[in-house]
Amino acid sequence: MNDIKTVAVYCGSNTGREETYLRAAAELGSVLASRGIKIVFGGTHKGLMGALADAALAGGGHVTGVITERLKAKGHTHSGLNAIETLPTMQARKKRMIALADAFIALPGGVGTLEEFMEVWTLNQLGEIAKPAGLFDVNGYYQPLMAMVDHMIAEAFLPAAHRDAIVVEAKPDALISGLVDFIPVTVQKWMS
Ligand code: AMP
Repeated sequence: MNDIKTVAVYCGSNTGREETYLRAAAELGSVLASRGIKIVFGGTHKGLMGALADAALAGGGHVTGVITERLKAKGHTHSGLNAIETLPTMQARKKRMIALADAFIALPGGVGTLEEFMEVWTLNQLGEIAKPAGLFDVNGYYQPLMAMVDHMIAEAFLPAAHRDAIVVEAKPDALISGLVDFIPVTVQKWMS
């Protein structure tokens, strides 16, 4: 069992086309707060990030924002957080978020979200970190990504066992339980 005290949540700085995404971000924030799990996130009031933080704070949760100087200067910082850290670059910011978290969750989002999630997957794969990571598959949003993962496996760029190197769930409680119970894949990534 993994002891998860803090989760870094990656998610869209936009809200997405459907209300479902906003509701899911808020639901995740509420569930993490009710389970006493602290949140680290991008530190903005914008998009799904704002909905996540607002719901967690309303539920008595603890929320830390980690933002860059450039985004802060644009006025993107959420004003009601328990803590905010400002870093000079996106690279420094991602490193800090990874250091603060025991596990990672990606809600739906754009290239920023995908890049952050793929980085933690890669770092786990290469053994630089050992922290569970999961996709909150709202509305089947991440099925095209999982189809790409299956394509990597079919084309022998990824061992089949590595499909289980991340947790994919459509409900917050199942996702968090999956992260707590997660057992790392021991098959090495190189196939020859
Ligand atoms: P995207 O999915 O492209 O909207 O990017 C969202 C991800 O990139 C988040 O998880 C944040 O870490 C980061 N990010 C993008 N835009 C912002 C912003 N305005 N404020 C804070 N973080 C942001």
